[in-house]
Amino acid sequence: MCGIVGYVGSRKATPILIDGLLCLEYRGYDSAGIALKENNNIIITKSKGLIKNLEEKLIDKTTTLGIGHTRWATHGTPTETNSHPHQVGDITIVHNGIIENYKELKEELIKIGYNFKSETDTEVACALIDYYYKQESDIKKALSKFIDKVKGAYALGVLVKNENNLYSIRKDCPLVIGKGNIGNLIASDILAISNYVDKILYLEENIIAEISEKNIKLYNKES
Ligand code: GLU
Repeated sequence: MCGIVGYVGSRKATPILIDGLLCLEYRGYDSAGIALKENNNIIITKSKGLIKNLEEKLIDKTTTLGIGHTRWATHGTPTETNSHPHQVGDITIVHNGIIENYKELKEELIKIGYNFKSETDTEVACALIDYYYKQESDIKKALSKFIDKVKGAYALGVLVKNENNLYSIRKDCPLVIGKGNIGNLIASDILAISNYVDKILYLEENIIAEISEKNIKLYNKES
């Protein structure tokens, strides 16, 4: 399991995300990536190897919402295609952990028309959230269904096309939310965000966090 960081606020997201990922380097990783919300698009940049390779590829953006990841491959080789963030349909995610029932889920999703580019369990998780989101037109309902369906361990940072919030859920993997003057952050480890926040809360399981620049809203999973 490696690192997650996410930011929504008043500053440019890229330097904050890179700074957070660098703080998580000590955990080891094989690739890194960032997704940035730019107008109505989500732009993903990924790179194999060190975070500095990712930095070299990043084009300076003014965007103030994004998620970042350092990957330690568990499902699929350490390639750029397998690295995070993954995007399927309207959903973009970073994931720490292992989705144990990803094979069955992948078969079901292929039957209903989903295609997969990577070998990862994470892309399957992303497609499943997209499938539920298309059914429900509500990301909190989609994430509730995901929590009910998925077996395994996860901390997720989630972006939704046409939304300006950051979402997060977790099970058996750490995830903290931080509140600061320049906005709100999520991370798999306090170290990644401690420079930017003055209050920390630990996300509980079965809770969906909806995070915007000014607010952190927590919702019970819907049953
Ligand atoms: N299981 C995921 C993968 O192999 C996440 C690995 C991680 O936690 O870094 O991509």
